Amino acid sequence: CAASVHARVASAVESRTTRGLRPPCLATVLVGENPASQIYVRRKREVCERVGIVSRPLQFDATVSEEALIAAIDALNADDEVDGILVQLPLPSGVDTTHVIERIRPDKDVDGFHPYNIGRLAQRIPLLRPCTPLGIMELLRARGETLHGRRALVVGASNIVGRPMALELLLAGATTTVAHRFTLDLADRVAEAELLVVAVGKPGLVDGAWVRPGATVIDVGINRQPDGSLIGDVGFAAARERAAAITPVPGGVGPMTVAMLMQNTLHAAELREAGDGTD
Ligand code: NAD
Repeated sequence: CAASVHARVASAVESRTTRGLRPPCLATVLVGENPASQIYVRRKREVCERVGIVSRPLQFDATVSEEALIAAIDALNADDEVDGILVQLPLPSGVDTTHVIERIRPDKDVDGFHPYNIGRLAQRIPLLRPCTPLGIMELLRARGETLHGRRALVVGASNIVGRPMALELLLAGATTTVAHRFTLDLADRVAEAELLVVAVGKPGLVDGAWVRPGATVIDVGINRQPDGSLIGDVGFAAARERAAAITPVPGGVGPMTVAMLMQNTLHAAELREAGDGTD
């Protein structure tokens, strides 16, 4: 599924260059030395190269001031050669993430985290949409899943995955419930769900035996085990016995997230050219 998005973006980029337009450009902002963040940014830049998107890496020390980071965002906002700005999260504790995200021009906000873009999604007029939920919607549509009236449960309510995921499912007509750290009866809620999306970051949080037979299960969690391997949030072996379909970790949602970042960068370039920006 990710490969077909890559192919679609690559051919759109190629057709731009044959029309004399420059390829889209994605600026990546990495702060500090978090090993997972370094891997994620490297992977995003590799996929940029594969689809013909130009990437422009910016790297800052963990001790960078918020003012310096904001100044860098302002420069990228003003740069006509830059279509998308990605700030890899999490940021060091000395920097207010909200200040930085809100500083990105909404029409260059290819992660879709700016309140303007989240608000557009909430009001059913989405522009740039958060990559992980959008990638999950693409996976569901590619499988031909029914969404209208489907009983969906999202476990996790973060700004970057759970909340926008719930907004996407609502937009698609699913009857959507959100569970979070204060939910008391998680096993019962899971047992009701025909479509289950889990994005918490706790291995084994959802026991596979809770899964409703025939449900579709999307496991967003990425948890590193002591031996270095990665697992999700759902007990995979037992869930696979009951589910109609389940995404693996790694290799399920992750590659779709990066593919959607490429699609959003292309979309951002097209939006600005069409003069549909928000500046
Ligand atoms: P987060 O820590 O910001 O949010 C976790 C959410 O889980 C919170 O809303 C919290 O209320 C909820 N939660 C905590 N304990 C709970 C419990 N016992 N029962 C129900 N809900 C509970 O995390 P995040 O940034 O949303 O990421 C979640 C996971 O998804 C992480 O493992 C992260 O690595 C992974 N992730 C994967 C991708 C991808 O592309 N595959 C992208 C982003 C995040």
